[in-house]
Amino acid sequence: MFEKEKLAMIKAGMTLDRYGLIALSGGNVSARTDSGELLVTPSGMIYEDMAADDVLVMDLTGKILAGERKPSSDTEAILYIFQQRADIKAIIHTHQPYATAISLIQDEFRADLTTLANAAGGNVAVAPFSPAGSVEMGKDTVNYLGQSRAVILAHHGVMTVGDSLKQALYAAVYLEESAKCYLAAAAVGPTKKLTDPQIQQAVEVFRYVGQGTAAIPESLTRKL
Ligand code: 13P
Ligand code: ZN
Repeated sequence: MFEKEKLAMIKAGMTLDRYGLIALSGGNVSARTDSGELLVTPSGMIYEDMAADDVLVMDLTGKILAGERKPSSDTEAILYIFQQRADIKAIIHTHQPYATAISLIQDEFRADLTTLANAAGGNVAVAPFSPAGSVEMGKDTVNYLGQSRAVILAHHGVMTVGDSLKQALYAAVYLEESAKCYLAAAAVGPTKKLTDPQIQQAVEVFRYVGQGTAAIPESLTRKL
């Protein structure tokens, strides 16, 4: 059941590993199927050791419909997010070090880099600390997400969401790229800012980036 979707999740997990966003079995990947079931990775398993059958199928209340493995320890949080936000089709949780490092020094990661505007759809909030495995992780994600596709969980990691697995994956990877760049600059001196309209423009521009999208309207390429 849902073999293709499960394999895509495992591949996404391996991509997180490739870009240094997780180590070993850290983090988790979950997705909503077209028919409304939830697919959740098993707890504490390394993605490259995972087979499709290891990924759990559950309903929106957490009742397991298929799979023998113990589901992710963050399942309560994952369920909460999927229950509250019908528009979210995929959730990725990582322990990506650079974005998480930002949570140790500030309460927001401003989208002063176009990469972040693209990835997250704007500024990324840092939610206060909540224990791993708690439903609070999910509540904080929903409360701090707004229109963004990412929240940094203080002292822990990152939650990204998307209308597809790809969108959540891109949000995580580009968030880390931006965090790395930002921290490199911040280690040397005060960082320069984009204005709010410039950030908004960057968000809009990226709606037109990629195959199958229209050309960028000229109005969006005007220098602000
Ligand atoms: P799981 O392997 O149980 O999903 O836990 C990983 C994690 O990141 C806990 O927050
Ligand atoms: Zn975690």
